[in-house]
Amino acid sequence: MRGGYSRLLNISCQKCAQNTCLYQKDGPGNLIRMYIDRIIDAKVSISKKDLSCPKGHLIGVKIIYDKEKRPAFRLFSEFSIDPVEFYTTRWVSIGEARKLMTDPANREALDKMEEIFSP
Ligand SMILES: [Zn+2]
Repeated sequence: MRGGYSRLLNISCQKCAQNTCLYQKDGPGNLIRMYIDRIIDAKVSISKKDLSCPKGHLIGVKIIYDKEKRPAFRLFSEFSIDPVEFYTTRWVSIGEARKLMTDPANREALDKMEEIFSP
């Protein structure tokens, strides 16, 4: 894993608060775009050119981020981020994260993360 720190953000719709996906964000700062390969546990299709919440509110639009040629969703507004940080890059916190998570889908996402990031 790259240096610095990253965290798993729970991305929910600003209009209806529906959970839309989890996103693994590197570094500090506001979330203005989401790289598609960092989206985890999406509740909606991420293969379309728009990203909408499960109730259909538009959240972002697909772009290719020039600098890295990576497909991403550009978010329309300063995105509300659930301040709960489920996870930091330290492996020791996975157990802690599991204790925080009661939703089966989130636990599944955690399993996937372990798969992806284990050496
Ligand atoms: Zn919504």
